[in-house]
Order: sequence, then structure tokens, then C-alpha cells
Amino acid sequence: AAHLEAIEALNPRLNAFVTVTAERAMEAARASDRRRANGVARPLDGVPLAIKDLFCTEGTRTTAASRILGDFVPPYESTVTANLLRDGAVFLGKANLDEFAMGSSNATSAFGEVENPWKRGNDDGTRLVPGGSSGGSAAAVAARLAMGATATDTGGSIRQPAAFCGIAGMKPTYGRCSRWGVVAFASSLDTPGPVARTVEDCAILLGSMAGHDPRDATSADRPVPDFAAACARGVRGLRIGVPREYRLEGMPDEIEALWQQGLAWLRAEGAEIVDISLPHTKYALPTYYIVAPAEASSNLARYDGVRFGRRVEGGDLKDLYERTRAAGFGAEVKRRIMIGTYVLSAGYYDAYYVRAQRVRALIKRDFDEAFRSVDAIVTPATPSAAFAAGEKQDDPVAMYLNDVFTVTANLAGIPGLAVPAGFDRQGLPLGLQVLGRDFDEETVFAVGTAIE
Ligand code: GLN
Repeated sequence: AAHLEAIEALNPRLNAFVTVTAERAMEAARASDRRRANGVARPLDGVPLAIKDLFCTEGTRTTAASRILGDFVPPYESTVTANLLRDGAVFLGKANLDEFAMGSSNATSAFGEVENPWKRGNDDGTRLVPGGSSGGSAAAVAARLAMGATATDTGGSIRQPAAFCGIAGMKPTYGRCSRWGVVAFASSLDTPGPVARTVEDCAILLGSMAGHDPRDATSADRPVPDFAAACARGVRGLRIGVPREYRLEGMPDEIEALWQQGLAWLRAEGAEIVDISLPHTKYALPTYYIVAPAEASSNLARYDGVRFGRRVEGGDLKDLYERTRAAGFGAEVKRRIMIGTYVLSAGYYDAYYVRAQRVRALIKRDFDEAFRSVDAIVTPATPSAAFAAGEKQDDPVAMYLNDVFTVTANLAGIPGLAVPAGFDRQGLPLGLQVLGRDFDEETVFAVGTAIE
């Protein structure tokens, strides 16, 4: 009830939720209370969560923040949200996001921008972005409208908004959480995961969200470890890699200082800090911005006005497709579809798409090499703190550059955790990123806990 009240008070300003399911939430909370009273409590009983509106929720509108899905009400529940419900979680509603999860500032949503609850210390009234695409999830948790939230990370959409909002966010290994019932953006990169106030809360949530799912062919058939227990392991004796290629020219000194501070904390707790090289890092952004739009253009072909969501009638079938897609998709989604269609077209497929796949393999190989000598890698999560709303809006390339530290983990499939680690001069939160070996989220959580 307290969370619903907070939503009522603050959501008109923050716009973090696009749908609030108050009655369902209270009903679920009462069921949790009954189970507790009867001594049959489940691990997440009574824990109020926000659900990124990319996860299909049975009977509750799921929009992907796009006009084209309109008032789509899924007849099924995504595996990840079904797992959370099984464990007793209470869903407060659906969180705003960038349209089809494409963006880094939650400004492309058909439901309007999300505001970051943080303000600069010299509060001059500047509205800051919460990051994206999981901006609604991160803002809701940061403003205490929810205790945690589901999110998805295709190129940083869990870690970057977590860093901008001063909370923790875990992108697990690709395949750890099922993609079944999650609206697809780029299928070989899309990774569901949690955002929450602390690293341990992320570990608890991931423990419920994860697990093998035969309905997703890329879901990993592996046991789910006790992530929460791993948080307390400590870092003594661990080798932590610091990749020199992440030291970007022109990066603000406060980001560098934060990084050094994080490494000093780890050293003080008994970790060994090791310089490493990930030589293909500089190709990661261009590779990502070929692979992700290519897969998006293919995945979004299904929104044709015939099978799902909104339809704009036209003369013949082609006309219906064109009118529906022209009216249904926003500018950023159209840009991605055009880029993707271009790099997949017969004349350019080898020059762009095939080459990007090759470079992707080299990026993965860099990490494989590095993880032979280190147990985890620590980098900044983002090259800056949250920026002002509208700042990079007219410059897609400047916007894409914000993903420079996060896209590598998606291309390689490895786990990445954003940890709140400090503040900039304006008092805005800054995050560090911990990367780990495939399916070794436990070490990542241990290192993240030591930094936090
Ligand atoms: N900002 C990146 C993009 O716009 C990542 C988005 C995501 O991870 N969903 O593609």
C-alpha cells in the first residue's frame, strides 16, 4: 500500500510506470499475507516489483512503449515473470522504457520521457534522463516506488540506467534467464535481469528469475546457484583485471577517480589488481550497432498490422503494412529498421553483417583470453553521469557512444553488474561495472558487494 501511495504521489512527475495494477497488487499482497500466516511463505512473498513493459504479463497490457502494440493484452505470462509470481512477488505495474528497448535515455517511449529522480546539487531545475532503455524500472526503484524491477539488457539497458539512477543492475550470462514472452529486440543479445537498490537484492531477484526453460532454445540447462550466498564470499585472493582500452580519451577525471577508488577498495579486501588488454574493444560499438539493428529489423517484421496490435487500414495489403508501420513506429525504431535492413541487404551483407559477426567472435575471444588470467574485470559503467533531458536527442551517434562500456558484455554473452560506487561533483550517482566469466555470476556478485 505504501508503494502504491508513493506511485500515486510521484509517478505523475517521473512517468516511471505506464500501467499501475493496484487492485491486482493488493490481491497478491493479501495472498502473501495468508501464506505467511499459515507458515508456507515463499521467498519473495510481499515484495513489490515493477515489471518492464517488455515482459508479457497475462491479462495486463504489454506495450513495449510502442504505439504499434497499442493495447495488446498478452494471453500468456513470460517465463521470467511467471518465475517471480511463483515465488510470491507482488507486481505493482508495468514500467516505462525506450520504444522496443531501443535507446539510452528513455526518451523514445510512446508514453513520454521518464525523469530521473536525482537532481544536480546546484539544482537549477534541469531534468535529467534516467538512462535507458530500462529507465522506468531504474527510476521506480531509485525513487522507492518499487523494491526491485525486471529489466532487459541488449547493449547496456540494465547497467546504464542503474548507474544513472544510483542503484544496482545485473545483466546475467546470456541464456541464464529465459527470453520466452519478452518482446524481442535483438535475440542474440537480449538478456533479462533485475535492478534493485543493492547488489544482494539483485542476487535474490536473479535467483528467482533464472532457470532453464525448454520454450527458449537458447536458455541454458544449468542449475541456478545461490547467488545471494555468493555476495558474502569476499574477494580475498581474486585477480581483478583492469582493461587499458577502457581508459578513454576525454573521459571526465571523476570517472577515472571513481575507478581507482573501486580498485583500491578491492585491493584493501585482499584482491590482486592486474592490467589486462582487450584489444578489439574499439570495434565493439560499431559491431553492436550493426548486429543489433540487423536482428531488430528481422524481429520487428512481425508488426504488420495483421497479427498484433494497431492497424491502419489501407488500399491493398502493402498499403496496409506501410500505413500501419509508418504510424505505429517512432523515429528511433524506424532508424534501426532501416540500418538493419541495409546491413542485411544482398549487396552489403558480407561487407557489414558478416564482418560484424567476425569481429564479434574476436571480442568474445579477447574476454576468453583475459579470463584465463583474471577472475573478474572492473570498469566504469558509463562514461558520464546522467545527462540532461534532450541533450543528445538530435545526435544519435553521441547517444550511441554512451553504450561504449556496456555493449561488449552483450556481444560476448558474459555477465555484467552495475554497482553504485560514488558521486560526481554535482552529487549525481556514478557506477562501476563488474564483468565475469560465462555463468560465473557468483564471482561478479562477490566483487560487486565488495565495491558497494
Ligand atoms: N542503448 C542501447 C541501444 O539503444 C542498448 C539498449 C538495450 O540494451 N536494450 O540499443
